[in-house]
Amino acid sequence: MTRLPPGSTIGILGGGQLGRMLAMAAARLGFKCAIYSDHRGPAFDVASATTLGRFEDLEAIARFAATVDVVTYEFENVPLPTAAAAARVRPVRPGPKALEVAQDRLTEKAFISSLGIPVAPFAGIRGEADLAAAVAATGTPAILKTTRLGYDGKGQARIETAAQAATGYAAIGGGQAVAEGLVAFTEEVSVLIVRGLAGDHVVYDIPRNTHSGGILRRSSVPGGLTPRTVEQAHAIASRIAAALDYVGVLAVEMFHVPGAADPLIVNEIAPRVHNSGHWTIDACAVSQFENHIRAIAGWPLGDPGRHSNAVMDNLIGHDIDTWEALAREPGACVHHYGKHEARPGRKMGHVTRISQRAP
Ligand code: AMP
Repeated sequence: MTRLPPGSTIGILGGGQLGRMLAMAAARLGFKCAIYSDHRGPAFDVASATTLGRFEDLEAIARFAATVDVVTYEFENVPLPTAAAAARVRPVRPGPKALEVAQDRLTEKAFISSLGIPVAPFAGIRGEADLAAAVAATGTPAILKTTRLGYDGKGQARIETAAQAATGYAAIGGGQAVAEGLVAFTEEVSVLIVRGLAGDHVVYDIPRNTHSGGILRRSSVPGGLTPRTVEQAHAIASRIAAALDYVGVLAVEMFHVPGAADPLIVNEIAPRVHNSGHWTIDACAVSQFENHIRAIAGWPLGDPGRHSNAVMDNLIGHDIDTWEALAREPGACVHHYGKHEARPGRKMGHVTRISQRAP
C-alpha cells in the first residue's frame, strides 16, 4: 500500500465549497491541491494549481491527472468517462463504482436493497406507460423523482393519490424516474463513514438533520439516537462502504422511524464529503475533510471523536449578510465560502455553534 508523503499533490475534480474545505484540510497535512473545474468556484482561491476546463474534455482530464498523485472529486455527478480517463493515469479514490451507483436513483435503491438494507418501497418508471403500475407498487402518498441529476429536492414531485401521478410525472419533466412510497419518518439522520485503503473504517457521531425547501438547513450533534439505533446505522453504512470497496468519506442519508420493524431506511448515499458533516471541522480533532484526504492518501485514519456539542446552520442566500454579527458571537465558528453573489437557495457559508460536551 502506498502512502503519499507530505508535499504530494491531490487532484480534486470540482471547485465548490467542498473542494475548498478539502484543500484547506489537505494543507494542514502538508499536501498541495490542484483543482479542475468548469467554472471558477470557491476552491480556486485556496489551491496551489487550478485548471478551468470541461469535464467532457478527456484529454484535458488526463493531462490534469498526470500533474497530481491521486485524484478525488467533490461532487457525485462527475461523468463516468471523466473518472475513467483520470483513472487511466492516476488512482481515483473513491473508485468509479460509487459514482455509478450514486448517479442513478434506481441503481442506487436496487444496489442498497440487494445488500438486505431497508429502503422505501420503490419502482422504476421509463415512461408514462409504467406510471400506474409503479404507483400501485409503492402505494400513495408517493414521491416521483428523476433518476439522475436531482439534488436538494429538485426533480421531485409528491403525489397524494394515483390520479395525480400523470401531473406529478409531467412536473419533473418525464423521462427516467423512480416512484417511492412516502416514509413516515420522525428524523432524517446521516452517517459519515470514512473507509481507508486497507478496508479499515471510522464513523462520526450521527447528526440530526433538518431540511426546508429540500435544502439542508441544520445538522446537530448529539443527534439523539439510542445506542442500539446508532449501532444499526453504523452497520448499514459499513456494509454499503465495503460493498463499494470504498475509499474516503461516504455519506449515507437515512430516515429514522422509531419503533418500526425497520427503524432506519436508507434514502440515498453521497460518495463524497457532505454538508451534514461540516460541524466536524470545529467539533472534532480530525474533520471529515481531513479524514477524506487521509483515506485517499493511504494515511492512518484520524480519530473522529467529538470534543464538543455542535449545531451547524447553513448560511443560504442573504443569510451570509449576518457574517459580521456571527463573528462577534462567542462559540460561533463562521465559514464564508467567498462566493460573490448571494442568490436565493445558494449555500454561501455556514456557522457552527459549539458548546461544551458533558463529561
Ligand atoms: P432526496 O433528494 O432524495 O434527498 O429528497 C429530498 C428530501 O425529500 C429528503 O431529505 C426528505 O425530506 C424528502 N423525501 C425524499 N424521499 C422521501 C420518501 N421516500 N419519504 C419521505 N420523504 C422523502
